Formats: sequence, C-alpha cells, structure tokens
Amino acid sequence: MKYRSTRSDERVTSTYALLHGLAADGGLYVPETFPENTLVYDDIKGKSYIDTACIVLEKFFTDFNRSDIRKMVEKAYNSTTFDDERIVPLRSLDTDVSVAELFHGRTAAFKDLALSLFPYLLTAAKEKEKEVGQILILTATSGDTGKAALEGFKDVEGTNIAVFYPEDGVSPMQKLQMQTQEGQNISVTAIDGNFDDAQSMLKRIFTDKEINDYVAEKGAVFSSANSINIGRLLPQIIYYVFTYASLVDDGVIGEKESFDVVVPTGNFGNILAAYLAKKMGIPVGTLICASNRNKVLADFFATGVYDMNRDFYVTTSPSMDILLSSNFERFLYYLTNGDVDAVKVWEKELQETGKMSVPEALLKKIDLTFAGDWIDDEETKNVINYAYNDETYLMDPHTAVAYGVYLKRKRQGLVSGRHTVIMSTAHPYKFPPAMCRALGLPVDENPFDSLERLTALSGIGIPYSLKRLQDLPLRFTETVDKSEMKRTVTKFIDDATR
Ligand SMILES: *Cc1c(COP(=O)(O)O)cnc(C)c1O
Repeated sequence: MKYRSTRSDERVTSTYALLHGLAADGGLYVPETFPENTLVYDDIKGKSYIDTACIVLEKFFTDFNRSDIRKMVEKAYNSTTFDDERIVPLRSLDTDVSVAELFHGRTAAFKDLALSLFPYLLTAAKEKEKEVGQILILTATSGDTGKAALEGFKDVEGTNIAVFYPEDGVSPMQKLQMQTQEGQNISVTAIDGNFDDAQSMLKRIFTDKEINDYVAEKGAVFSSANSINIGRLLPQIIYYVFTYASLVDDGVIGEKESFDVVVPTGNFGNILAAYLAKKMGIPVGTLICASNRNKVLADFFATGVYDMNRDFYVTTSPSMDILLSSNFERFLYYLTNGDVDAVKVWEKELQETGKMSVPEALLKKIDLTFAGDWIDDEETKNVINYAYNDETYLMDPHTAVAYGVYLKRKRQGLVSGRHTVIMSTAHPYKFPPAMCRALGLPVDENPFDSLERLTALSGIGIPYSLKRLQDLPLRFTETVDKSEMKRTVTKFIDDATR
C-alpha cells in the first residue's frame, strides 16, 4: 500500500513515510487507499492485544511481511513494557460508561502504546529503504510524547532523538521524567515558549533547505516521533479495535451495537485514530472531542471556524495545551474525500492568518460523527473529586476533562443512550499537585511526598517508572529561546554524526 500527501500528489511507500515523517510539501502522509470496512467482530473476537495489533497493522504496512510485523509487535507489547497483561484494560464506571486505560506502559501515558512499537517500525523501514546513515528524530512534546519517545529510542542503534518541551508547560513529574532520561543518543531541551511554538518550529526545520542540505551532507536523515508520523498514528487504531472487542467479549454491548468514545484531545491524533478505526468497520457512534480551556476544537465543532488567534492557557491538563492540532489536517483530508487542493488552501490560510473555516454543508457532515465540548480547570478538579468519591475511580486531569465533557453533555440531555468509553490517557500519578488539590490533600513541595499521600488515600501503588525518578540525577536542564531551536538542532546533528 502506498501513502500520499494531504497536500499534493506526492506518493511514497509506507517505509519511506515512516522514515521521513512529513511529506516534502509540508503535508502529512495518509494511506492512498484506506482499508475501509475490512474488520468485523469475528476477526478480533477474544483476541489478545498482540493478535489484534497484527490484524490491524498488516492492513497498513504491506511493505513488511507478516512474521516481521508479529516479531515487532511481540517486542512492543509484553510484560516488560506494560504493567497490565491485557495492555489496555477496560474498567466499568457504571452500566453506561467504561474507561479504557491507556496508561499502563513504561512512561504512564497513552503515548507508550504507539511509541513502544514505533522504534521497531522505524528501524525496519530504515533497512528496507537501504538507508545507512543515522536517523535524527526531532520531537516536540506537550509533556508525554517526549518521554515515551525517549524511552522507546534510547540507545537504539542508528537512531538519535532530540526532544523539545515547553519549559513552563509540563507537570513537575513530566519534566523530571525528561530531565533524568538515560541513554547516549538523546538530547532534551526546554524552550521558552509553548508547545505550538516547538511544533511549528520543528515543522519549519523539517522543510528548511539549508538544514536539510546539512543533514544530507552528513549522510543522515530527519524523522519525527510526533503523531504527524504514520508510525505513531496508525498503531493507535489498535486500541480502539481491541476496546470494541473487549466490550463485546465482556457482554457490555452486543456485536452489532455501537459505542461512543470521549477523547481528551490536543494534537488530534488519538481521536483521529478512533475515526480511522470507525472507517475500518468498528462500530463507533459519536466521537466526542474533549478540550480544556484551549478550546479551539470545541469552537470548531460548534461553528466550523478554526481560529487560533486567541490567548494560550497553561492548564492542569498540559498535554492538551495546544492551539494548532497537527492531525486536524488529516481530518480535513478525510472530510473532503481526499480533496488535496482544498486541504492545501486551508493549511495555507491557517499558516498565514491562524484561521480557516469549512462550508456549512461540511460542518453538517461533521456533526453526524463528531461532537466537541470543553471544561475548565475548576470543573476538572470537581470531576476528579466526584469520580473518586462517588465512583471510587481515580482519574488523571486529562481523563477528567473527557469524563467532565461526558457529564456536561449528559446534563444537557445530549447523550445518545449508547455505551460510552472514556479514553484514559495518563496515570493520575503523573500529576501529583493537581491530583492533591482536587482531592483536598495538601500540596507538597516535593511531588514524591504527594505521591505517598495519594497512595495512602487510594491504595494504588506508585508505578516503578515514576518512583525511581527520585533517585536519578538530572541530566538535561538547559532552556533555550524558541528562536534558538535551529542552533540546538544543528548541534544535535553534529553530535549524532560525529
Ligand atoms: C498527548 C496527550 C493527549 C492529547 O492527545 P492527542 O493525540 O495529541 O490529541 C491527551 N492526554 C494526555 C495525557 C496526553 O499525553
């Protein structure tokens, strides 16, 4: 199967798309022919996460053979990389609502589900493409991608990774996770700016002629670990397929019954994966896009206008503090049935004016499948408290945004009557201050003291990957201005190709 750009007729192999991340025209790669309606319950009934992953990935990565895909999948999803044998366990909140826990991987956020596998896909793609140089992975993070990518790529032969995070835009635990990262092939830098700054600067670097010539001269190649890369995005489809099978296997819904999903959204990767699962035949009903106070997407779903000319807020759900959602571009591509000329015009508008809008008829079409809403930090805090005290479930602030949006819609009489799955994107212990505040506990200077309090209250143990951070030395404490990122990248190139 070939992949094509969302902005032109550029067509490449899956291995090329994996290796290069972004299309040469600045667009994102999408499968040329989507495996539409190719999955039914019987294919995935009672299957393990590994088996499900193989079934899904074989449809997209036709440049790899089956046994290679299985080997990669087995290395990605096992008892050393995940602390729950089901990989993505489903918990029931009440008869109408379940929570899909996506945070049982090495860095306690849903990014692990793709980034445990991605390094294998990338190194296999490198081999198939006969690329012998170093791969230089540039990654912008709103908190969780950075750590998950670092953990995935640390000391992987032939790869090097540089991560940029907003200095004041991540939780103390997320920051510590990145500052203490182990491995020889890595670079971690804080920037004086927000996630959007980091992401747009990297997109610019990816298409900057001067720096690309420099990389070529060094015999290396750039890639990305952000969800602009198909190797990040497509493996996220697996857990929607798996969740559907689990719901039916457990008798929560019938085989022909559909279910809604509520997805705490930032870069629009996770919810786009839900959309792609639906396209494959998984009976997802409404896809509910949940935002925090940076509610560009909620406004878009209400009005059809995407407008990022607005204040940026640092919230208690930092991984959703994003105004320019990369994968929105793929969403526009699918909405228009692949009208690359329209996508190109919209993206140009967005880049130049920070604003674009879709016609009324298109918005009507979107409304049949998607809904969006948002809640603020105060409400998020109340939702965490309510979920814990009334439903004995401890959820992190991102998950609480999703659940809060569900509860809000319920109050407004907007729920469908279908079973609803809340996608839980992070372990609550990644956000000790916000959790303590929500639960009425004192907020400690040292986040590890807060974790002890949370454990004493909830009985939930501290994941080892978080607990061990307090004993690790700080390795990366540099902060640069966003305008300096290109220089940092140049140094990274030099170090990696020395
Ligand atoms: C990355 C992230 C999100 C946002 O996911 P997108 O795919 O970027 O929309 C939400 N919650 C958490 C905890 C995250 O790490």
